[in-house]
Amino acid sequence: MHKAMPEKGRAGDEVLTELTAFKGEDPRYKEGRVWSLVYYLDETHSDFIKEAYHSYSSENGLNPGAFKSLKKIETEVISATADILNGTKDVCGVVTSGGTESCLMAVKTYRDMARSKRGVKRPEMILPKTAHVAWFKASEYFGVKVRLVPLQDDFTPDLKKLKRLINRNTVMILGSAPEYPHGIIDPIEEMGAIAEKKGIPLHVDACVGGFILPFIEANGEDVPLWDYRVPGVTSISADIHKYGYAAKGASTITYRNLDYLRHQMFVYENWPGGVFASPALLGTRPGGGYAAAWSVLQYFGKEGYRKLAEDTVAAVNGLKAGIDDIPELEVMGKPIGPLFSFRSTDPTLNIYAVGDQMDARGWQVNRNQFPEGLHAMVTAQHLRVVDQYIADLKASVEVVRSNPALAKEGGAATYGMLAHVPLRGMVKKKVLEMFSEQYRAGGGELDLKSGATAGDTPGLLDKVVGWYVDRQQRKGR
Ligand SMILES: *Cc1c(COP(=O)(O)O)cnc(C)c1O
Repeated sequence: MHKAMPEKGRAGDEVLTELTAFKGEDPRYKEGRVWSLVYYLDETHSDFIKEAYHSYSSENGLNPGAFKSLKKIETEVISATADILNGTKDVCGVVTSGGTESCLMAVKTYRDMARSKRGVKRPEMILPKTAHVAWFKASEYFGVKVRLVPLQDDFTPDLKKLKRLINRNTVMILGSAPEYPHGIIDPIEEMGAIAEKKGIPLHVDACVGGFILPFIEANGEDVPLWDYRVPGVTSISADIHKYGYAAKGASTITYRNLDYLRHQMFVYENWPGGVFASPALLGTRPGGGYAAAWSVLQYFGKEGYRKLAEDTVAAVNGLKAGIDDIPELEVMGKPIGPLFSFRSTDPTLNIYAVGDQMDARGWQVNRNQFPEGLHAMVTAQHLRVVDQYIADLKASVEVVRSNPALAKEGGAATYGMLAHVPLRGMVKKKVLEMFSEQYRAGGGELDLKSGATAGDTPGLLDKVVGWYVDRQQRKGR
């Protein structure tokens, strides 16, 4: 049943009260319980970005000639970004609504550039297996075929294999700084040398790292080169709404010079509504997100971001040390920066079951697959919960060690099964079907995965697994 629009309007206060009440069941990010999704520091900062956002919530960046304020804001955000990414004055770019838009734009740009300069009709791009899912989305949206580079044991791409994937249809190569699944910085200098020699653009996805790695480096830590100092790097995506601690809706896509950015632009000169030009994906561009991004860069400055980077690294180091202390667990690869993943080294200890125990203790922990692990996207806010997290992690490992059967229950069973269903095409088809169902008007609440506690209604992934188990049983009969 559709829930109808109310016939009569309601008092603003009443509506706002109800709106806030909706948050009741949401993850408790203000207590530092959430890892990824939210970059929260404190109420003062949160109120500040809200006010900055509100002050431009009606302004529209669609036409840079109309709201000159927003064009000025955008120009200053891009210059500040080029500065911290060590770009020359030729570096140019666009503020976008988020990392996905930035990544999509890079793929469109390089596809169109290769078509216009080299007549490439069947475009391909080379991605390490750890590339963010936004790149796979871009592949589907823009018809650019993915050539996947396998990983070595340390989770970095195998560069010998990467070289062999280059052909005349290659429109771009991707590296990440760092990649999302394990927090590892790809070998950008080596990749840059390969890209430059072959004359192929190299995009660095620094959606995570863009606004924190420069400050970790400024604090004196060892960070390999990954930005515009690497000659082969032609563009970088960097999110302000992650480690820039902006309000949601702010990322950047920058290019080494206009020769690249030109191919991102869209112009239609024959529209009855007038000649139209647009720099990125969106039509109406939300002024609030851009205004909050500009404001937060002014609010913290380099000094503020260095302090945030210092606290984040302290939290990461505390967490890694705590994990090293647990004999059954290990951090995956050699992550540098704010995030990492860890796995079980003991075949009798199921890491997803440990994740369920952490969920039950009020943490919101993300799961990796291929290989299985737990993920931690750490912010400065987490510094004060390090000890509690490690204490809970130790307790969780203890519980799972004495109850190995937990691997066959709750979330562990679901995630374990999903990672092991051999027919990936079937998983995709079933998830697609069930995911779409949840978007019917008047449809139920979106629930990918319910908590592991007893009595929860099954989430989408449970249903997919339930369907698969049924199917196997029917086949067995
Ligand atoms: C978060 C992220 C993205 C996508 O950004 P959104 O803002 O979530 O759209 C792309 N690449 C990497 C490496 C990311 O971590």
